[in-house]
Amino acid sequence: MTHAIQPKPGILEISPYVGGASKIEGARDVVKLSSNENPFGPSEAVKEAVKKAVHQLHRYPNSDHLPLRTALGEVHGLDPARIICGAGSDEIITFLCQTYGGPGTEVIHTEHGFGMYRISALAAGSAPIEVREHERTVDVDSILEAVNFRTRLVFIANPANPTGTMIGANEVSRLAAELPAHVLLVLDGAYAEFVEEYDGGARLIDKRDNVIMTRTFSKIYGLGGLRIGWAYGPDHVIDALNRVRGPFNLSELQMSAAEAALRDGEYVEKCRAENARLRSWLAKALAELGVASDTSCANFVLARFYDVGEAEACEAHLRADGLLVRKVAGYKLPNCLRITVGDEASCRRVVHSIAGFKGRDI
Ligand SMILES: *Cc1c(COP(=O)(O)O)cnc(C)c1O
Repeated sequence: MTHAIQPKPGILEISPYVGGASKIEGARDVVKLSSNENPFGPSEAVKEAVKKAVHQLHRYPNSDHLPLRTALGEVHGLDPARIICGAGSDEIITFLCQTYGGPGTEVIHTEHGFGMYRISALAAGSAPIEVREHERTVDVDSILEAVNFRTRLVFIANPANPTGTMIGANEVSRLAAELPAHVLLVLDGAYAEFVEEYDGGARLIDKRDNVIMTRTFSKIYGLGGLRIGWAYGPDHVIDALNRVRGPFNLSELQMSAAEAALRDGEYVEKCRAENARLRSWLAKALAELGVASDTSCANFVLARFYDVGEAEACEAHLRADGLLVRKVAGYKLPNCLRITVGDEASCRRVVHSIAGFKGRDI
């Protein structure tokens, strides 16, 4: 039945985002490796900050996020005036599409790019344009070929999800330099902290006025449940985004948790090191079982199987063993499974289960 009340064009083309599964019917001792969460959770300092913030829940939060922006500026060496905070980086992606998109405009994302780019583009009335990747890696030339006078935004995640691959600083600079002046390049740095000595693109942003990076507290900081993200970009972009941002989009509880997380650098360092160690262990163990993967720069491994059938059977086998991983057919990777790097015990369980699936005893 058609209704007289109709959403604007684009809305009904949105397939709602499906998050990683978290439960298995009837199973106990389930390990969730489907959402790239930090297996160790947030640091103790964050839990203390949350306990304190609980006493002020009747107060409206400050609306300029200044203490958090100041802390971000100090820790990352950035100008706090050019930082905006959001309810997860998802909200920043929404702001970007609302601000620069709209009917008659195009938003570019890549073949295996993060699902929220398409959803937010459609919600804003823009046409999402998908461009080819080269061997599961963002391809700058394909992006440049797809750009036209309607293009407003180009989204790339670096490192990317769900592939875990990354393009180098030279390629990112070349993309920024060769885009026409009316196009804004968005560098999604959700996994930037997992890469040692990587600034997410901050220095490039300082040199140009057409690049912005989005960042999150959901991944290495272990705060996916609290919804805190931020972005760093040129003055004119941050100013425009702030006009569409609701004044109270972040609670005091979120902001204090984020600030505490940021200031506990030792904990972040520990998580980064542990992730790197277990990630290479996992990739190597999978390779020995005949399961290939690209070198991952993030906190997951994209395991590549022989075909769709084998990937699906392996996912079911893992699930029967209480292990939840992410199917990524929706990302045009039907023969792959994305496995978050968990703690050591979880990584061992995954390898043991896949060995069983492959009929190998280890
Ligand atoms: C997880 C993730 C995010 C983070 O989203 P939040 O809204 O900050 O939780 C953003 N981009 C990519 C590519 C991600 O994988």
